[in-house]
Amino acid sequence: MADRAREEKIRCDACPVMCYIADGKVGACDRYGNVGGQIVRCDPITILDRRLGAGGEVRPFLAADWDGSLSGEDVFVSGVGAGTTYPDYKPAPFIVSREIAGADTVTVVTEAIFSYCGVKVKIDTDRHLGEEAAAVRAEGEVVGHVTTSEYGSQMLSLGGVDHLTGGSKSEGRTTCDALLRLCQGAAVDLDIDGGAQVTVQAGCAPIVNGKREERMRVGCGSAAIGMFASQWQGHVDEVVVVDDHITGVVSEHQAGKVLDWPDTGIRIKGRRSTPGRYFQVAGPGRGWGGTDIDDPLTILNPWLEKKGARPGLTLLMVSTTGEHAAYYILDDDLVPQPAEMPEILQASVDLIAQNCEPALCTVMFQAGAGGSLRSGVTRNPVLLTRSVQSGETRVTCGGADVYVWPGGGITLMVDVTAMPEGSFGYVPTPALVAPLEFTLPREAYCRLGGHDDAVRSVADIVEKGGEYGSDVRMVKGKRDE
Ligand code: SF4
Repeated sequence: MADRAREEKIRCDACPVMCYIADGKVGACDRYGNVGGQIVRCDPITILDRRLGAGGEVRPFLAADWDGSLSGEDVFVSGVGAGTTYPDYKPAPFIVSREIAGADTVTVVTEAIFSYCGVKVKIDTDRHLGEEAAAVRAEGEVVGHVTTSEYGSQMLSLGGVDHLTGGSKSEGRTTCDALLRLCQGAAVDLDIDGGAQVTVQAGCAPIVNGKREERMRVGCGSAAIGMFASQWQGHVDEVVVVDDHITGVVSEHQAGKVLDWPDTGIRIKGRRSTPGRYFQVAGPGRGWGGTDIDDPLTILNPWLEKKGARPGLTLLMVSTTGEHAAYYILDDDLVPQPAEMPEILQASVDLIAQNCEPALCTVMFQAGAGGSLRSGVTRNPVLLTRSVQSGETRVTCGGADVYVWPGGGITLMVDVTAMPEGSFGYVPTPALVAPLEFTLPREAYCRLGGHDDAVRSVADIVEKGGEYGSDVRMVKGKRDE
């Protein structure tokens, strides 16, 4: 009985799942369907066309529309919708010849199934999201961890083979789903163990504990002192820029010294690094400058009269985004008392805020393309790896430039917002699917042992399509918009 049911279906062999698909239905990944007894890729092959008008126009394309001018540098057959050749015993779905600047060039086009992949997420905020190495969860499953923060940004490392395949089925499925949605540009809610809840969406402002982040910090506290010290001189006696990493004090800082800024007798809690630069003035948090404080005076020790403290001395305390600022005057007991901020100092606080860039989330897809898919490119896979590493072969994902890590293999990283819409898919193994193109001189392609007999012109591809269908769509590349 089961066998008869199977006979009525046809098998998709584009990934190890090997779905049996009934006529009119699609397989488990929604990427392939049975159309009248033929396995067809549901999305059209995507050709990037620079000649399209601004605005990323997408239009269906019929071979009959073609004016015969699809050639050269204006058009690029991308891997989006190209299909896969699992398990790569045959040439890649499309191997395209083009003439670029008078040179004969080949682009090998495929949709790669990446079991080894993940995303690196950069979140522009100085707010503390979680301890380094803290687990990051999506829908309760651990999908990654907090990694080393960068200048003005918190970083997450999500996905990777251990989460996709090394844990429970549910962890693998949830990880794959979170990665897919992030790569597709959707908003994904993440919970950090012992830290914040953050909503991440590529190219959009992060939302931390329900609050949208507006600004990336202008720099660390020390950098802010360097940038603005001369503007404060003559208007205030002391400035402290509160920062979770490096809190700056203008009277002690080198920038203050070169301006002959007098000592004030201020004393800061925390660990003094170099003059005017203090580490660990408070714990990390979501208060002033990424610390856990709401009252900046808590980072000060009693002032020293013999070092210059005096009643009437004025003090500006400000955070690295200008989001928090307060003005104080020392009373007769040398205790700072809040006072109204002078206009000229308010203008400098506003300038800090103006100098902050908008806070964004960046999602970089990172994956290993050094496996069996190389056989779809050449019969001698290591030659492709060497050619990529030497810079002879250019690697792109959906036409977007990638960064290839030096060293062994083809480990690439690409900004998902630079790729055409609909670039990413998945298979339930679980793994992500992403477009991949290798472009190199035709002569080099032959030398590498490439499948030269499978090379086709763009015109031929537009006219006849490929193994999995003939629909074509033309879009303007994101970089050309
Ligand atoms: S999951 Fe998708 S690619 Fe894999 S066999 Fe099924 S339909 Fe084909």
